[in-house]
Amino acid sequence: MDSIKKLYRIGNGPSSSHTMGPKKAADIFLAKNKDAKSFKVNLYGSLASTGKGHLTDKVILDTLGKNTTVSFLPDVIKPFHHNALEFFSYDLEGKLMDRWLVYSIGGGEIVDGANKYSDDQEVYKLNCMADILKYCEDKNISLYDYVLENEEDIMSYLDQVFTQMISCVEGGLVKEGTLPGPLHVNRRAKVAYNKYIETKDIDKLIFASALAASEENANGEVVVTAPTCGSCGVIPGILYAYFRRGLYTKKELIEGLAVAGLIGNLVKHNASISGAEVGCQGEVGVACAMASSMDAYLHKATNKQIEYAAEIALEHHLGMTCDPVLGYVQIPCIERNALSSKTAIDCSEYARMTDGQHYVSLDSVIQSMAQTGKDLKEAYKETSLGGLAKTTLNK
Ligand code: SF4
Repeated sequence: MDSIKKLYRIGNGPSSSHTMGPKKAADIFLAKNKDAKSFKVNLYGSLASTGKGHLTDKVILDTLGKNTTVSFLPDVIKPFHHNALEFFSYDLEGKLMDRWLVYSIGGGEIVDGANKYSDDQEVYKLNCMADILKYCEDKNISLYDYVLENEEDIMSYLDQVFTQMISCVEGGLVKEGTLPGPLHVNRRAKVAYNKYIETKDIDKLIFASALAASEENANGEVVVTAPTCGSCGVIPGILYAYFRRGLYTKKELIEGLAVAGLIGNLVKHNASISGAEVGCQGEVGVACAMASSMDAYLHKATNKQIEYAAEIALEHHLGMTCDPVLGYVQIPCIERNALSSKTAIDCSEYARMTDGQHYVSLDSVIQSMAQTGKDLKEAYKETSLGGLAKTTLNK
């Protein structure tokens, strides 16, 4: 498995697959084609279906410049992944200089060529939870120790992740007004935060913090993928509330982020964290599993209880569709992040009532998630062609 650093990416929202990945691809193509006089970019499949709402065209135009045309071709499905984009560069006479087909596979990661990850590295030798649990049991170490054993330098990066998550929540808690786009969605984080100030009820702070991070994402601000932009509010919802209330130290919370990162990495490696590939079970479902493992770790759960907490969270998101209204990462995404923060805490508490023994392993549920994603109709995988995306909204 690759480094946890590749899971927690710091960058602009609203979508890791639709903005961060395409931006990275556009930067690479531009660097290879410095002498080009114009560009054309075709967006295929899900990138084309929800690209406008996710601001894909904007990020490409901002990167390549004004001599660029972007075409939306939702009916063209490329073989490797639904999020495909193709770059073309031209000289002064309009002669084709270069072309590049690339896939944005979620979490800001891009893939160049069939099945070949562009920059995937084997930082972790063990790729499934059963092996990791056995290894940790044999050595009598925690999952956090295991992360440190594999990535000695991870703590300084997670310090940056922590700082960015806190600052993202703080930014969102004070803002008012509507989010960009035709839905005119009202920001709600500040309202929830004011309720917290009145009541001192930590649940309201968790809701407010998750809403704040997700609203910042919808506004295109800098967020941390955890594991994606669309699901970037779940972990900060808990992280900020626990930090603000002084329940855990920064060091403890960063350790929790390491454990959560390990869980997210397992899903990313063995299944997918892309809404276009497996639906929202791979985004908010995985974020909930990560947050639940973090919460369990903070509560000094055993490794088996932590594995159980993550498993329950993912199991009970199986089949969750990705069908954002008008393609904007707003409805249902923002509310879903807030509710998932609370669910993660419940899953952790549930697992900690047990000795960690349970029937479905985390490895099995990851496989089930991948298969469920394959079986889901395309309408429910970030195309905005079905489900909630077809609903009539109350005005
Ligand atoms: S519904 Fe879920 S997967 Fe789809 S855009 Fe929203 S957060 Fe991402």
